[in-house]
Amino acid sequence: MTDGHHQPRLIGEENVPPLHQYNASGRSPFLLTADHYGRLIPPALGDLGLPEPELTRHIAWDIGIAGVAERLATLLDAHLIAQRYSRLVIDCNRPPGAASSIPALSEATTIPGNEGLSRDAAEARRREIFDPYHHGIDAVIGQRLQAQRPTVLVSLHSFTPVYAGVERPWHIGALYNRDTVLPQLLLKHLHAESDLVVGDNEPYAVNDLTDYTIPVHGEARGLVNTGIEIRQDLIADQSGQRQWAERLARIFAEIELELRAERLVD
Ligand SMILES: [Zn+2]
Repeated sequence: MTDGHHQPRLIGEENVPPLHQYNASGRSPFLLTADHYGRLIPPALGDLGLPEPELTRHIAWDIGIAGVAERLATLLDAHLIAQRYSRLVIDCNRPPGAASSIPALSEATTIPGNEGLSRDAAEARRREIFDPYHHGIDAVIGQRLQAQRPTVLVSLHSFTPVYAGVERPWHIGALYNRDTVLPQLLLKHLHAESDLVVGDNEPYAVNDLTDYTIPVHGEARGLVNTGIEIRQDLIADQSGQRQWAERLARIFAEIELELRAERLVD
């Protein structure tokens, strides 16, 4: 507080912190992230002016990814870093300041609590949610690199099966921009699964304007990295989450051997 303004806390000691570290002592080279893990809203923001059904659908969080991410972290013995607050409060995979960072409109839903937001109010969301999460990732990567531990970033997401009336055919997609290694290995393994419709940079590609975690923590730090998007209807229940975690754990175990053979992990 350098400007003397009163800056009320959004998330106090009594509230759940945004940063969720799971299996932090995991020994795997894979470091998992989940930017849209949770859908909490700081009590001070109420319900953002939205009815309950809007706060449980895909615009609020990545449905199913929490269960997949934690099971996958356990199976791989990997460290998972996740963010517990809703992407409607602040999207932790958008550059702060981008229009979609604190969206006033998501798909066809207007978010009253995000309309006409003051600079201070937007800054508070960044300071109390976005920053602790990304500082947490940055610190973990820094510690791992200092300890010369191999670190491969895997950013986990899920996508809605229908967006703006258009059906998505893919079961899973590999998402990437500058990494030329891991997304191609992942795509090779996913294509070998005969029951899957696989998206190659579908339903989205990663880029610097619409993404944050991969460009900043993966590419800028020189880590081998990929994004993964899983269709939400496949991981809506625990059974689906378990099956997808087991499938991905099997595939990533094979990929780890290939990365080691190529000396990209050692
Ligand atoms: Zn997501």
